[in-house]
Amino acid sequence: MSDRNMPGDPELESRGRLVRSLGMLREMLPGSFFERKRACGRPNCHCADGKNLHSQFQISLLVGGKPKTFNIPARLVPKVRQQVEMRRRFDAAAATICGINLRRFLKEKENR
Ligand SMILES: [Zn+2]
Repeated sequence: MSDRNMPGDPELESRGRLVRSLGMLREMLPGSFFERKRACGRPNCHCADGKNLHSQFQISLLVGGKPKTFNIPARLVPKVRQQVEMRRRFDAAAATICGINLRRFLKEKENR
């Protein structure tokens, strides 16, 4: 007998909540977000002292198996930061869902 749809199983309820929350993460972006400090090379710029460097935000990821880095325009930095964070939450949710399902599989395997 299957208890798959039995109400009140806290593990299934938490799995259901997680699955339903994934729609919020649909704008997720792959890769890692980071900030690179650099000098622009102009001798009169404030960055020429080597301390007040420019910030360039980037994402790096694999595209077709090859590592790529993309600069993020300043106007998109807050959005892209959130989108990369969405991917982290998506992966965490997937790991939790898989953990629940694995426990259920191992239990089911023992029930003949
Ligand atoms: Zn500069």
